[in-house]
Amino acid sequence: MAKQTKKTSLPLAANSPITVPATRYCASPPRKPKKLPKDISNERAKLILSNSNKWVNGTTLHYYFFNRAADGEHIELENGRKLWRKWAGTPSQLRVVRKAFKTWKDLGIGLNFKEVKNREDAEVRISFMEDDGAWSYVGRDILDQDVDERTMNFGWNIAVPDIHNGIGTAIHEIGHTLGLQHEHQNPFAGIVWNEQAVYDSLGAPPNNWDKETTYHNIIAKLDKKEVTGSSWDPDSVMHYPFEAGLIKKPEQYAAGLNPPGDLSKKDKETVLKFYPAKNAVKDVFIKEKVPYDIVAGNSEQQNFLFKPTLTKYYKIETLGKLDTVMVLSEVLAGKKLLYLSGDDNSGTDSNAMIKIKLFRSKTYVIKLRVYYKGSKTKTSILIS
Ligand SMILES: [Zn+2]
Repeated sequence: MAKQTKKTSLPLAANSPITVPATRYCASPPRKPKKLPKDISNERAKLILSNSNKWVNGTTLHYYFFNRAADGEHIELENGRKLWRKWAGTPSQLRVVRKAFKTWKDLGIGLNFKEVKNREDAEVRISFMEDDGAWSYVGRDILDQDVDERTMNFGWNIAVPDIHNGIGTAIHEIGHTLGLQHEHQNPFAGIVWNEQAVYDSLGAPPNNWDKETTYHNIIAKLDKKEVTGSSWDPDSVMHYPFEAGLIKKPEQYAAGLNPPGDLSKKDKETVLKFYPAKNAVKDVFIKEKVPYDIVAGNSEQQNFLFKPTLTKYYKIETLGKLDTVMVLSEVLAGKKLLYLSGDDNSGTDSNAMIKIKLFRSKTYVIKLRVYYKGSKTKTSILIS
């Protein structure tokens, strides 16, 4: 494995540099942060921003690997020549991604992952387009992509025994899909970059990034309100390794920073906080025209089950002051869930509400993830 040979003008720290092999980094598309009204409290904004890109717990994320001959793109070389780049991966690359999904699931999280053969059935659509970098949209942002579009790419061969550029890359990209962001952009890290050295390093092979990509994926700090907790985890799988001379502060990392490339203790805690094996609050069967208390607190989820007595249009709404996402599914045989509708009212004065025709003798589940509610607020759910 070739070591990076780029020179840096920054004097190295007294301790000897940590060896960081030539690493190809994830270059995820820039996000448009959710716009919130200016007059809402800091606490409310923080809870909305850290929850609103996450999935409701219990969601099954279906993933699909592009495999048709027509799936791909032309890239243009500097000399004007065009080259076809297919999106399909090799069987061994697919195996690495499946294993990475299993790595997350084996933590005991409440989300499920299922491979599907049709792109129409998939929220997560994965390509292996060479020279297109590795990237994924973050959390529920993947739903904004059309069905023929990719939500995740692996731009190099991940079927290699490499800490960061093998399965570590697949675990990292899936982490984005679960709603996690780059840990080295955590504003609580207090990282001061040697910016020119960072631009030079990432502008050179193997990444060849333009300034904007480097800025969005490394230098730019996340909004403090978007980050869960207030600590920094340099061991996170969502943290890049950095060669010597890129970090000025904290000084101990001037000689380089090389995370293990696997899930850290805090990665596990964070993902289980949002996706516990079991919701803290028990599921409740509810009847129409009777308001039921929402017991779930901030960042918690409560599920309500409903069997209509009539086939008709129903209104499902939350009452009281709270920010939530509400997701309605039909319960099929074998406890499988069929998504029907959802509403996110966070950051507004109105409440989550779904109007829909439901059928007698069927069972429905309403999943309510509470982002924020004031401590003295009475909140309930009502079906009418
Ligand atoms: Zn990334």
